[in-house]
Amino acid sequence: MDLLNTLVDKGLRRESPTREEALAVLATSDDDVLDVVAAAGKVRRHWFGRRVKLNYLVNLKSGLCPEDCSYCSQRLGSKAEILKYTWLKPDQASAAAAAGVSGGAKRVCLVASGRGPTDRDVDRVSETIKAIKEQNESVEVCACLGLLSDGQAERLREAGADAYNHNLNTSEATYGDITTTHTYADRVDTVNKAHAAGLSACSGLIAGMGESDEDLVDVVFSLRELDPDSVPVNFLIPMEGTPLAKEWHLTPQRCLRILAMTRFVCPDVEVRIAGGREVHLRTMQPLALHLANSIFLGDYLTSEGQAGHKDLEMIADAGFEVEGTGEVTLPEHRASARSGGCGSHTDGGGCGSHADAGGAGAGGCGSHAGGGVCAPASASTPAPARATEEPRTDLVAVRRRGAGTDLAPNA
Ligand code: SF4
Repeated sequence: MDLLNTLVDKGLRRESPTREEALAVLATSDDDVLDVVAAAGKVRRHWFGRRVKLNYLVNLKSGLCPEDCSYCSQRLGSKAEILKYTWLKPDQASAAAAAGVSGGAKRVCLVASGRGPTDRDVDRVSETIKAIKEQNESVEVCACLGLLSDGQAERLREAGADAYNHNLNTSEATYGDITTTHTYADRVDTVNKAHAAGLSACSGLIAGMGESDEDLVDVVFSLRELDPDSVPVNFLIPMEGTPLAKEWHLTPQRCLRILAMTRFVCPDVEVRIAGGREVHLRTMQPLALHLANSIFLGDYLTSEGQAGHKDLEMIADAGFEVEGTGEVTLPEHRASARSGGCGSHTDGGGCGSHADAGGAGAGGCGSHAGGGVCAPASASTPAPARATEEPRTDLVAVRRRGAGTDLAPNA
């Protein structure tokens, strides 16, 4: 297929596809899905080899959020029967983080529900970061605490944070359909604050909220422009008790096309399969490793994932290897720009120019992988047809172990 050959060539050169090319990837048929995976897999292997980075979520504060993100089980008015608890103490959080690290994770993602942290919250998280780094200096710590105020990113950086996650989630045009209590511009501003403070930015999306192909392409191109180091791709987990509980649009093949399109648009960026991996990709998860170079190990913020040992078996069986702490995740040109610290993001290459969830699970304002949107209207292309299969509600389990409970975490 000429389209795929063109996209591979562009991906190897870090050149952006056109919008039409990205849309064409999403429009390919199920008959072509293996060709699409093979093509995007070449780009993935060029920049990231066969390595898979493991990330581990620690939900520092769960539920009771005043914001109204429709996809989120922690939102204002959510009837989802999730765990609800206030801030974990630093020793509790570092114990949870240690479980993830011993399971193979090289990054720990500290997530808290809420609009954004108070300065006291930044103090708490700073203490937690220090406790984690004291145990294991080499572990990467990403904070995901919502919208940042001036100076907070710098304080997190000083405390030892390596990265900050805040997802764009969906296109600017439809953002108001999923959340009314903050804006798309607020989210962009927080990603820019993280960049400016020298934090590695992590920002991604949620697919499956009823959005159109145009919306998906828009948000991925916006991410390319924002130039994060990592892009988590969440697949909506329609949690009972949220406004989007009935939004089951995704098939495994569509998830693969979305990941492939993201890889072509952001070829040299850490693309992470985030929340919804087990629910929507199901037995096709191993194929997605040919597209993404990063996953979450174990459970998500409010829902349970595949057993940690199953994640590891899947990676080995598919012919991939877990990325070690001594290995650099990003390609050399991006890693060296990052080590230049603040302001060095504008090297023009990479996932775009100057160009970071939690979500899915990930967090706070990342995108707790929960919700969806009720068919946002996009002008040109209608929302994709509903999947013909039955919703797999049997695969959605509320998290009942790990952080905030007395039970051992899944890692
Ligand atoms: S995504 Fe974050 S801000 Fe939005 S409702 Fe969930 S916890 Fe609150």
